Amino acid sequence: MSQLTLDQYALVEKARRFTWEHLVPLEQTLTQQEGIEPEQARTLMRLGQESRLFATNIDSKYGGVGLSTFENVLVQEQLGATKDVLIRRATGNIYECLTLGTAIQQERYLFPALKGERWCSLAVSEPEAGSDAASIKTCATKNDRGWVLNGRKMYISDAEYSDYFIVAAKTAPELGAKGISLFLVDKNVPGFSLGQRFNMMGFVGTSHNELILDQIHLDEDALLGEVNQGFQMLHQTLGKARLAKVSARGLGKCVRLLDLMMEHAKQRHQFGKPIVETGNIQYILADCAIEIRAARALLWETAKRMDSGESCREEISMLKVFVSELVGRVADHAVQIFGASGCHDGHLIESFYRDARLFRIIDGTSEVHRNIIANSLIKQGTPAVVDI
Ligand SMILES: Cc1cc2nc3c(=O)[nH]c(=O)nc-3n(C[C@H](O)[C@H](O)[C@H](O)COP(=O)(O)OP(=O)(O)OC[C@H]3O[C@@H](n4cnc5c(N)ncnc54)[C@H](O)[C@@H]3O)c2cc1C
Repeated sequence: MSQLTLDQYALVEKARRFTWEHLVPLEQTLTQQEGIEPEQARTLMRLGQESRLFATNIDSKYGGVGLSTFENVLVQEQLGATKDVLIRRATGNIYECLTLGTAIQQERYLFPALKGERWCSLAVSEPEAGSDAASIKTCATKNDRGWVLNGRKMYISDAEYSDYFIVAAKTAPELGAKGISLFLVDKNVPGFSLGQRFNMMGFVGTSHNELILDQIHLDEDALLGEVNQGFQMLHQTLGKARLAKVSARGLGKCVRLLDLMMEHAKQRHQFGKPIVETGNIQYILADCAIEIRAARALLWETAKRMDSGESCREEISMLKVFVSELVGRVADHAVQIFGASGCHDGHLIESFYRDARLFRIIDGTSEVHRNIIANSLIKQGTPAVVDI
């Protein structure tokens, strides 16, 4: 903490207090089918707004809190100690690409999102396009009144909760990744429906759905940004989100799990002594601490470099791989240290273990991010990627 200014330290404390006071107590209320009650979600949002922890990633010129990337990862690590759906409800889930919209689009989508009046999901994945997102089949065809959208999207987080969607669609199929555009699609337009609901093994308390987009007629101004620039816009804006929502929050989960393991290992006695006195358990705890500190060092360095204008593409991928795999290792150790008491339905350790497994899949799989790092190594050479 000594590397932080007093203001940054105060921000960390505020986020920590907020998490423990308002979010952690609700963890056990989340179930596969049920999220938090709508009234409770509104309360969380109001508390997040009052604490200036809502829309921390959005520039203050639009009405967000406008934290720097570094300040935002400090906050997100503290929030990350708890369940993702609670964090989303309390702090918003506002995609930065919405700031690239026209004044009318900002009025209709961004500003209501910043007030917590309208919620948004991002819809890219499809039945046959996951890692290879450029192979999406959803298509938007131009006509004299606007666009006609057809396709299917899969596993869209928060789909039942959201009011509108940022949908990736092909506008020039022959151009591959360079022929994809983003569209703002309201949930209530004719032709839009929610398809199958997938109960995921983790991240309970929200829905993951199929979206059916059947001959949806969209006005000209449903197009977000320039035509065929969708992928570029996502690449420009999703890096910071990946750093904050996956790496920083994942790190927060590792710290929480380490705390829980410590607490349990001190109070659980076997063979006449606390299990924390056994060497193997001490080594597990020490290894977790080493890896958490290493991950945080790379996270802070990357966030600071991004604030000074660097894109840090490889570092973001390194962190995505390292932290998502670290959460898995730490959660696995936690199950081992808790033994049977951490294995059963409804136990916090069991639910964090299930959440942890999803980290390696969401926001680009570990393999896809390793490909990015390896490609950069091959193209640019070692010094560019592993610089000093
Ligand atoms: C909880 C959850 C929430 C999600 N929310 C959303 C959402 O809100 N919006 C959205 O658009 N999507 C969402 N997704 C989908 C997510 O983006 C995809 O799951 C992810 O992109 C991986 O695609 P896939 O699951 O189809 O796996 P696939 O792409 O089919 O990959 C299967 C396996 O093959 C490997 N593989 C594939 N290609 C390569 C390669 N070239 N080299 C090496 N290995 C490779 C992968 O790494 C993986 O291990 C969500 C998924 C989950 C689990």
